[in-house]
Amino acid sequence: MIATLSHLQKTDLQHVWHPCSQMKDYEEFPPIVIKSGKGIYLYDENGKEYIDAVSSWWVNLFGHANERISRALANQAFQLEHVIFANFTHEPATLLAEKLVKITPDGLSKVFFADNGSSAIEVALKMSFQYHLQKGKTNKKRFLAFSDAYHGETLGALSVGGVGLYSDIYQPLLLDTLRAQGPDCFRCPFHESPAHCNTPCISSVEAMLQQHHQEIAAVIIEPLIQAAAGMKMYPPAFLTKLKELCSQYDVHFIADEIAVGFGRTGTMFACEQAGITPDFMCLSKGLTGGYLPLSVVLTNDEVYDAFYDDYKNNKAFLHSHSYTGNPLACRVALEVLKIFEEEEYIKKIQQKSAFMRELASETFLQHPNVGEYRQVGMVGAIELVKNKETKEPLPSTERVGYKIYQIALEKGLLIRPLGNVLYFMPPYVIEENEIRTMINKANQAIVEYF
Ligand SMILES: *Cc1c(COP(=O)(O)O)cnc(C)c1O
Repeated sequence: MIATLSHLQKTDLQHVWHPCSQMKDYEEFPPIVIKSGKGIYLYDENGKEYIDAVSSWWVNLFGHANERISRALANQAFQLEHVIFANFTHEPATLLAEKLVKITPDGLSKVFFADNGSSAIEVALKMSFQYHLQKGKTNKKRFLAFSDAYHGETLGALSVGGVGLYSDIYQPLLLDTLRAQGPDCFRCPFHESPAHCNTPCISSVEAMLQQHHQEIAAVIIEPLIQAAAGMKMYPPAFLTKLKELCSQYDVHFIADEIAVGFGRTGTMFACEQAGITPDFMCLSKGLTGGYLPLSVVLTNDEVYDAFYDDYKNNKAFLHSHSYTGNPLACRVALEVLKIFEEEEYIKKIQQKSAFMRELASETFLQHPNVGEYRQVGMVGAIELVKNKETKEPLPSTERVGYKIYQIALEKGLLIRPLGNVLYFMPPYVIEENEIRTMINKANQAIVEYF
């Protein structure tokens, strides 16, 4: 144990079990107590400042303690904090649904509310299965997902996920998912370059659909970036082809835009870049700008109509969560969407990401252990390797990313690597001089480690 733990640190270690952590690590690396935040900065109990380059697990868009959002939240809290959402409704949820339908790809017309990303995935999987069932296709009870996919931690979501680190232990409990090889552009087995790629890797999915389509309800995918897998990026053409295949084989297309939605990829939604409308679109994370848990599943009239019938026919979607459509969260989401529009954030994201791309490429590419710097919109990733020529990975047992994370924290930068991939996913309010500081600090941490 470190001798100088604060009271809050000691109390935390006594009683709190933290997410995605080996708690024994905390003996040497006690939790950092954050007292406040402003813009891209977090401040700990000793007044030390950190740049939040991961947007606090990919949720924050317009900075911590944002004036506009905090005010909207406070006003709503004095008006109505929550109400049952079956048979009741309220202004924030209604206006939010209307707005989401307007800004998402054409054809998405209905909004189902849940309260976190994993729950949204569960909703989409259940709806897809039930749709086919009610259309008489009783064999469609499996899902097709990709290697290295991440869709959340509840058992259904974990079943379609393909990151073994999170799912292997629970395999005996999981659904029998069909798994296709996902695009792997850094170590492309077809030796294509992402810029002019003809997506030959789609053939793996095509073969599985051909063989199994009669038992597949839906394909689920993270559009453009497999985020938790290590910010693995792939071209929009893959999605366009996948959508065609889904239509051909009567299989739903579930777009998990939980991480990439709301401007992350440079467009409001990643599916826009592929020109597709999914059958289900799952959104969460940035939806509330990092303020409150909320998620939605958008779908189309055809799906909705398959559930619409007399009560006695038992076709309703009987799924609910206690905090479904929470007015505070919906009000905050509405304010987030207003900020996007009124402050022209899509344009700003495009400008800022161009600046980040240029500076980061210039800074990191010369390093002998950087195999690649890649970026889509406001997500930039540094792939660390043992050997730049052969792309031989660093052994995971060395926990290189984890060690660089700790060095960076000392320097006042919060990046939380995924294995050997360091990444930036900053709040959109970050300014050019702050992008420069973020990149410099990350570079110093990398140089210091190697
Ligand atoms: C974070 C994430 C989820 C799960 O969301 P939670 O709110 O953490 O349950 C699902 N899919 C993707 C792509 C994510 O990044």
